[in-house]
Amino acid sequence: MKLKLHDAIGSLDYTDLVDLHEDLKEGGHSLRSMVEKKIVDKEKEQGKQCCVCNSEIDVHSTNNFTLLLGPEGLRRKACFCAIDCMKYFIDGLEKRKEALKKKAAWQEDGGGMKDA
Ligand SMILES: [Zn+2]
Repeated sequence: MKLKLHDAIGSLDYTDLVDLHEDLKEGGHSLRSMVEKKIVDKEKEQGKQCCVCNSEIDVHSTNNFTLLLGPEGLRRKACFCAIDCMKYFIDGLEKRKEALKKKAAWQEDGGGMKDA
């Protein structure tokens, strides 16, 4: 990460560097808003396709849904084109959890055939 930033700064010409330095001296407001805009762009890019059916998501539609999954710091974003796709995704999560529970119970029984 440090190296990439180093490369980016290295690719700037003298005038850009002086401008950047001026901006940093004044609190780096331009740099901050540039970075923030880039983050928003990247997040939008990630949310362009539905996680379930892969169809293109219209970012202005009110039928879009987004779920944030996972613990703080490791959050993942899942976007859906419609409520049906989100339901399908949640059903899948529940089934997977159920299957893991069954597997754990089966192992606790010593791999017995109790439920078979
Ligand atoms: Zn979909």
